[in-house]
Amino acid sequence: MTRHYDVVIIGGGPAGSTVAALTRRYAPQLRLLLLERAIFPRHHVGESLLAGASPVLEEMGAYEKVANAGFLEKLGATFIWGRNREPWGFEFDELISQLVAQGKRLPRLYTRAWQVRRAEYDELLLRHAASLGVEVRQGARVTRVLWEQEPGSVSDGDGWGPRAIGVEFVDGRGLQTVHCDWLLDCSGQQALIGHALKLREYDPQMNNYALFAYWQGAKWLYEYTGYPELTRICIITTPRGWIWYIPLKRDVMSVGFVTHRQTLKELPEGPEQLYLEELQACDEVRDLLKEAHLTRIAADQRRDVCAIQDWSYRSRRISGPGWAMVGDAAGFVDPILSSGVMLAHELGQKAAYTLVSSFATSNAEEIRRYWEFYAQTYRTYLQAYRDMAAFWYSNNFSLESWFWQARRILARSGSELNLSDRQAFTRLASGYATRAESLSLFGSYPLHEAQQLVNGLFGAPYCREELAAQYEGRPLHLKDAELCDGLYYYQGAVRQTRRVVNRRTQRYLDLHPGEEVLLSLFDGAHTLAHLEETVKALQALPQTQRLPLRSGLDLVVQLEMIGVLA
Ligand SMILES: Cc1cc2nc3c(=O)[nH]c(=O)nc-3n(C[C@H](O)[C@H](O)[C@H](O)COP(=O)(O)OP(=O)(O)OC[C@H]3O[C@@H](n4cnc5c(N)ncnc54)[C@H](O)[C@@H]3O)c2cc1C
Repeated sequence: MTRHYDVVIIGGGPAGSTVAALTRRYAPQLRLLLLERAIFPRHHVGESLLAGASPVLEEMGAYEKVANAGFLEKLGATFIWGRNREPWGFEFDELISQLVAQGKRLPRLYTRAWQVRRAEYDELLLRHAASLGVEVRQGARVTRVLWEQEPGSVSDGDGWGPRAIGVEFVDGRGLQTVHCDWLLDCSGQQALIGHALKLREYDPQMNNYALFAYWQGAKWLYEYTGYPELTRICIITTPRGWIWYIPLKRDVMSVGFVTHRQTLKELPEGPEQLYLEELQACDEVRDLLKEAHLTRIAADQRRDVCAIQDWSYRSRRISGPGWAMVGDAAGFVDPILSSGVMLAHELGQKAAYTLVSSFATSNAEEIRRYWEFYAQTYRTYLQAYRDMAAFWYSNNFSLESWFWQARRILARSGSELNLSDRQAFTRLASGYATRAESLSLFGSYPLHEAQQLVNGLFGAPYCREELAAQYEGRPLHLKDAELCDGLYYYQGAVRQTRRVVNRRTQRYLDLHPGEEVLLSLFDGAHTLAHLEETVKALQALPQTQRLPLRSGLDLVVQLEMIGVLA
């Protein structure tokens, strides 16, 4: 008899474990099956994490386990770039200095990350998902996705496409079939659904190859890698590409070389020779490896020098009826900003919220809207990191212009703009890519506090008195503003919100639940003083009737920032 599950997840990497653990947390009644073709621990590239992953690990209940697993802590990154070989970099801690200056607290986990040995990290998370009640089967390779009607190739504008109803997989007991309501493709670069529906698009500019290996006895240099307890990833450009230098253990470094595919084609020596020559030719790396030798870090690491395709791609669609993609299965940017695992966790979180919300309604149109919101979120994230990577490969060796690029990206994704260029860069490079979606990373706070923290993270502090004086007596009036429904992620579900949108620029501000009523005061007759009075009256309501809202001045400033204040 064919078994039926509410959700089947293909793949037990960071994306699969996150979807499984969080869906289980918020909808424990659902039956979840996770199929993983490998037997863990299995070797995997992608070792340097971003701080943005930690709030998700905390929400999964796995943060303490990761913190106590013996991985080296990562403080930030060092770059040696272009002609000026002066090392520069950033630290995740820079994020909080601004909040601290405003008297706000942010728990340390929001700026904490590690350099992980993926065989151990992925196994820890998969075991964690299983401990929460997810049925995990390792050594179970999915061979085919089952559709209600066999799909042809799906092109843009084809509606929502075919419905997934289950999978066939092979394990020690032979070929098996399971049916499900939702199928989550977390199969990494294998991208089962992307290939089946021919949805993948490759970026010709970022068509790279990565060669990497592990070096025992490699030297530490504080300026590049930090101290053995508190480390950094070091990224060094070379004439033919760039090198990563990641401390994985006190005596083991992961060292990779990324180059355009064309370089490999043009050179007669094999990839291994090219890798060794390139490290030898690099002034910053040569001496660090002088007394080191190659080692293997996992039982299934088959070669000393590994090679992997590092080709940036995205999927034209990432969800459809009964199916969705998460992590590398949906898209892959580039290793330059170490964003892959963070994206798998963050988008895994959003996929779990969307799944839980989908099971909570029987309205098909609503469900479709939720998944479209998920797809839109995904595109925003991928585009932010893709634009940063494209800039890196454009060989415009100017630090300032990379920072400026980060600011441009954050501004486009609806963030407040009064960040310095460097602050914008640090936010992106730490894994906090967009203002709106970052709200769900503060999901354990009450909504108004979470929103304040996001405002703190994405907006620079300002002097209240000066601003209040600036707006004093000025009639409040909106221009180019449109009020519409919006969605956001918060505490395990997709939620409705009202959103003020600038009709011309599409920049928007999500209103706090108690704020819509305040917009009636922006009629040309009222001023900031009237607004503050009304806010005070609303805040004085009994606890049970009170809804989260900003101060009048905060609301005015934020409306000004999206350009809708006349
Ligand atoms: C060269 C390079 C360097 C990188 N460096 C970094 C870095 O420093 N930091 C960082 O954050 N990211 C880095 N990344 C990216 C990172 O490795 C990925 O983004 C991350 O692993 C994605 O997680 P995932 O869960 O989506 O996929 P994966 O981790 O690949 O997991 C997918 C899982 O699905 C399983 N699977 C596949 N097919 C099937 C099937 N048919 N049936 C059942 N199971 C299946 C696989 O066995 C695997 O366990 C790098 C990537 C590359 C290419």
